[in-house]
Amino acid sequence: WQPQPPLAGLSSATELVSHWTRVFEKRGIPEARESSEYIVAHVLGAKTFQSLRPALWTQPLTSQQLQCIRELSSRRLQRMPVQYILGEWDFQGLSLRMVPPVFIPRPETEELVEWMLEEVAQRSYAVGSPGSPLILEVGCGSGAISLSLLSQLPQSRVIAVDKGEAAISLTHENAQRLQLQDRIWIIHLDMTSERSWTHLPWGPVDLVISNPPYIFHQDMEQLAPEIRSYEDPAALDGGEEGMDIITHILALAPRLLKDSGSIFLEVDPRHPELVSSWLQSRPELYLNLVAVRKDFCGRSRFLHIQRSRP
Ligand code: GLN
Repeated sequence: WQPQPPLAGLSSATELVSHWTRVFEKRGIPEARESSEYIVAHVLGAKTFQSLRPALWTQPLTSQQLQCIRELSSRRLQRMPVQYILGEWDFQGLSLRMVPPVFIPRPETEELVEWMLEEVAQRSYAVGSPGSPLILEVGCGSGAISLSLLSQLPQSRVIAVDKGEAAISLTHENAQRLQLQDRIWIIHLDMTSERSWTHLPWGPVDLVISNPPYIFHQDMEQLAPEIRSYEDPAALDGGEEGMDIITHILALAPRLLKDSGSIFLEVDPRHPELVSSWLQSRPELYLNLVAVRKDFCGRSRFLHIQRSRP
């Protein structure tokens, strides 16, 4: 006697999407339809269900494909984020490999990158040729921010640091995959250990960018199971007021940043005020919060902090 596969009789992509959508909904899995569409499309070699050739919607799948869909869907039932299930995700038009527990880039972070690109477009960088800034990314994760800057600023160079080994090797892999490895230095370094900054092989940078861990420690418990069980908490937990890494970055500015350089940060909506008063009590850093931007949900999310040392 062989157990009946639960999908007997269901064989087309469309039927499988409806089947797994119902299963996910019944089990309270968020984004049930999107999840099943992504999984089915992935197994059929497409990025999205909508991009599948219509001929494939109704064609029967092979038993191997059915098995694969079942295997990937069971991971979703365990609340694994779809980005890890697929093993890749797009950011700023780049296809990046995703491996747990490395932080999955969020769509709002694309707005941070776009803001910095706007800013770069308005300046000339005297040291290199115009448009050739040296950029430091703190906490590079999968490499999403650094690699998208490199791909859109052909003259730029980036130093990407992270304290997580998995993040460092994933950034390497993504840089290779996108053939951007020649303009990026990827360094395994814990930025809170002051000593690690003393032997760095470069001078001060034009720009610092970071999506640091900024969640208030007491809010960590309320994160969705997808985040809590799969993503590295070190990429999320910013300490009591979410400011631990933010203040480290700011305090290092005199050592890391040129006298007229800029820092672009993604933060919690409570941070603009906290950062502004933190900076006011440290005039020796010569840092000013010059602009705050909201994300697409209308929450204050991004900071531009400028160093202006006379
Ligand atoms: N916005 C992130 C979230 O989804 C938090 C990112 C961070 O701490 N850098 O939880």
